[in-house]
Amino acid sequence: MAQTVTMDKIVAFCKRRGFVYQSSEIYGGLRSSYDYGPLGVEMKRNIKEEWWRRMVHMREDMVGLDSAIIMHPRVWEASGHTATFNDMLVESRTSKRRYRADHLIEDATGIDAEGLSPEQLTRIIEEDERIKDPVDGGRDFTPVRPFNTMFETYMGPVKTPENLTYLRPETAQGIFVNFKNVLQTSRVKVPFGIANIGKSFRNEITPGNFIFRTREFEQMEMEFFVEPGTDEAWHEYWIEERWNWYTNLGLKEENLRRYEHPAEKLSHYSKRTVDLEYDYASVGWSELEGIANRTDFDLKQHAEYSGENLEYFDQATGERYVPYVIEPAVGPDRIMLAFLVDAYTEEEVKGEARTVLKLHPRIAPTKAAVFPLSKKVPVSTIARELYDDLKGDYRLFYDDSGSIGRRYRRQDEAGTPFCVTVDFDTIEDKKVTIRDRDTLEQERVPIEAVRDRLKALISG
Ligand code: ATP
Repeated sequence: MAQTVTMDKIVAFCKRRGFVYQSSEIYGGLRSSYDYGPLGVEMKRNIKEEWWRRMVHMREDMVGLDSAIIMHPRVWEASGHTATFNDMLVESRTSKRRYRADHLIEDATGIDAEGLSPEQLTRIIEEDERIKDPVDGGRDFTPVRPFNTMFETYMGPVKTPENLTYLRPETAQGIFVNFKNVLQTSRVKVPFGIANIGKSFRNEITPGNFIFRTREFEQMEMEFFVEPGTDEAWHEYWIEERWNWYTNLGLKEENLRRYEHPAEKLSHYSKRTVDLEYDYASVGWSELEGIANRTDFDLKQHAEYSGENLEYFDQATGERYVPYVIEPAVGPDRIMLAFLVDAYTEEEVKGEARTVLKLHPRIAPTKAAVFPLSKKVPVSTIARELYDDLKGDYRLFYDDSGSIGRRYRRQDEAGTPFCVTVDFDTIEDKKVTIRDRDTLEQERVPIEAVRDRLKALISG
């Protein structure tokens, strides 16, 4: 059955099934903030765990870090954020709405306006009649000006300029400022990487598209330190590695593509940046993840601003150098939206419509559900025992209410890949049925083999 997944459909589905709720909803909701419900929190944890497993646990050249959100304000001077972490702001005089100028232009004309100066953007808006205020159609705009998107806050009880600090807009700087600590306290040798997951904050002018762009979000960033001269090959390596991470977890290749940033639009620190873009429902191709060659920019800046020597000493060659850095940076919220859009399916099975989330078992919020066919003993007691035995391994769901068909449908919608049913034959043959969400195939498995069988099925 042909289907069109729209963002509205995903938003409504997420609310109805307890994946994502609007923040502070009983007060009318806070735009741009979202809360993750019982299924959503499990799914997002799985995304972060899968990233950590592949980036850190499965590699010998990687270590982890959990750095603080509030850092020394000098960090942001050194990194360039205080001076240049700006979005281009334009205001409509008629509706008083504020817009990100590059987005306003792009949406109306298709012109890629990211990275243009305020003067260039102002001129385009003035000259191109297609650009109108989306709210009232007006064309009376203020000149474009840069707006720094870092959230300001004050440390301590006194709100004085010396106490001004920021909520971090990226996790990367926490990694750079700990480069020396990690070198001195773990036995890493270049090439190696440091991975960090945590919250970041950006006072986005126009948040939107559900959890795609929010003001508070999480980031999973990894800085991979390499010898200068080997950086280009490592950059290619990480683009491919990250691509494979998505496709191995079931993201459809046709919905994923590379976008090469034109040289003239690169960020101040970047030698080359390639985005992995995803074709988000009814929004179109948008950045999922950015993979940048940040050169030695950040370490050199921090060395200069802090006065610390941040060179690496290569014991094998006796050389000293400041490493180059390759950075894959992504938000789990954006990944979650991509997986949801990709997996959401409305189809017909044996003449009956069903909604099913075809998520990879590793990403699925609930890995399996246990159903007793009857609420009576001994079927129910066998099912309970099985549930109690397995529940510590992963998120498992027990359901004994409603017809078996309805129980399947509920789990299909939640993306649960396997349902284990205890029936009347179980009493005699000590076997249960495992049903596959996507193929609907059922296999009969001895109770004592269920743990191993599910483990094999879940690891994919
Ligand atoms: P965009 O161009 O969409 O604003 P960006 O290029 O500023 O993104 P980066 O600074 O490269 O984004 O951040 C790395 C990653 O962090 C992004 O690829 C995205 O996955 C995530 N991210 C950035 N901003 C947000 C946000 N406001 N909400 C959710 N995720 C975000």
